[in-house]
Amino acid sequence: MEPDLKRARQLVMEMLPIPGTSGQEGQIIAFLKKKLQQGGASPNQIVVDDAHTRSELGGEIGNLVLKIPGAKGQPRRLLMAHVDTVPLCQGCDPLWEGEFVRSANPATGLGADNRAGAAVLLSTALEILSSKRPHPPLTFLWPVQEEVGLYGSRHASLQALGKPQLAFNWDGGTPTRVTVGATGAYRMRIHIDGLATHAGAAPEWGISATAIASLAIAWLVREGWHGQITKNGNQGTANVGYISGGKATNVVTDSVEVWAEARSHDPTFRRQILKAYKEAFEQAAQEVRNVSGARGKIHFKHRLDYESFKLDNNEPCVLAAERAIEGLGKEPERVVANGGLDANWLTERGIPTVTLGCGQESPHTVQERLNMPAFEEACRIALAIATEIE
Ligand SMILES: [Zn+2]
Repeated sequence: MEPDLKRARQLVMEMLPIPGTSGQEGQIIAFLKKKLQQGGASPNQIVVDDAHTRSELGGEIGNLVLKIPGAKGQPRRLLMAHVDTVPLCQGCDPLWEGEFVRSANPATGLGADNRAGAAVLLSTALEILSSKRPHPPLTFLWPVQEEVGLYGSRHASLQALGKPQLAFNWDGGTPTRVTVGATGAYRMRIHIDGLATHAGAAPEWGISATAIASLAIAWLVREGWHGQITKNGNQGTANVGYISGGKATNVVTDSVEVWAEARSHDPTFRRQILKAYKEAFEQAAQEVRNVSGARGKIHFKHRLDYESFKLDNNEPCVLAAERAIEGLGKEPERVVANGGLDANWLTERGIPTVTLGCGQESPHTVQERLNMPAFEEACRIALAIATEIE
């Protein structure tokens, strides 16, 4: 069955300019709800959950869920795609030229990440609602707050999803790329307390938080704990992404704030990276003393952003995604991602989830564009997945 691609293209063009940064998804969720109801979904099939009330960001609305009953004895399938976009895309003016859609406003991104995925889902849901063709029981999930830390999927109400056994997430570029795993990440916040004194009159009584941060970071860089990390066959990455402190050149810096992250597919190695960061800052604090021997203080906080995962080679959702791609005469390609996905949290919470592309190119940049033929291919693959009877 070929989806109505003209409608799918119109839907994505309508969805791209709707504002909806993380936590501000009220308008885009309202748009999806309206389209689903016009398409024949009854109000009791649609739920907006309360994920935002559990999110540290807060936010104005939860995840949108549509449940459609299906053929008896078939396992329920979940199709999902986050609806929020990064702030760079606010105010985008989509312009469609040839095979690509870009923002006519050169100062903004497009927001194909992830309105393309959200439109693939909407197109598929509308096909199912209007066709008599058999299909398994289906759940459509549009999570909020993906871009800021996967909060929508992390806090999604599992009860609202109806126990899906196969799950498919659209977020990425190439539609035939099947992402079966992704890295895990920690976020670190390191606060350094020093001691302020006059930098000219009494520097020896000061404790420089700047010096402590510098020594720690220099050590991490020299020892290979910054950027790409390879140690004894283990792989990871780390980055000091933010540093701030100090007020004036004539004051010994009494306070510096450093934010960093650590990623690895291997949870044990990821914890080792974390440990290296903690020790580097504590060691540096030992080295910087004033004349009375007083030292600065390190306040080291970390949190798990998301756990890594790797789906089984024979995981039913992976095989179903590959069957759908092959059924369209295309060759699926299995990959593991180095960024976090909503699939990290769904899989962690007991719903193994595979991720597929939907035509995004250069997300999170002003060069972002949507590859329309790839988006259409994603619509075909999604409909094949949603209508497969095993
Ligand atoms: Zn995304």
